[in-house]
Amino acid sequence: MLEGMTEANCIFCKIANGEIPTEIIFQSEQILAFNDIAPEAAIHALIIPKKHFRDVADLTTQDKTLAAELLAAATELAEQLTDGNFKLQFNTGAEAGQTIFHVHAHLLSNSPRKLT
Ligand code: AMP
Ligand code: ZN
Repeated sequence: MLEGMTEANCIFCKIANGEIPTEIIFQSEQILAFNDIAPEAAIHALIIPKKHFRDVADLTTQDKTLAAELLAAATELAEQLTDGNFKLQFNTGAEAGQTIFHVHAHLLSNSPRKLT
């Protein structure tokens, strides 16, 4: 994968570059988060690097700083949306359930943060 390159036909690259409109729930220079289109929990968000990597192994091998940033963003979002009970999941490989080969963390929780 070349630096800054966008994968043709990658749906999450298209979300990251604005070709497919999505409601953004968190954004920084390199990271984006949006709600999963088919939620499996009360809170089900996806957190991605804007740059394309096929999976979490690829990301971590190639850019540990960005991997740490992704984890920090996911945790920050979890703190905003949940009461501290949540899962972060990276499906890696088709046999493990990965269907979109642009690395994404699933943030899953049935414990929304209570507004005071
Ligand atoms: P995975 O199976 O781990 O690759 O996760 C892919 C996730 O992306 C699934 O949970 C899908 O529901 C979700 N998804 C697919 N297309 C979209 C989309 N356009 N917007 C938001 N989430 C999507
Ligand atoms: Zn991509």
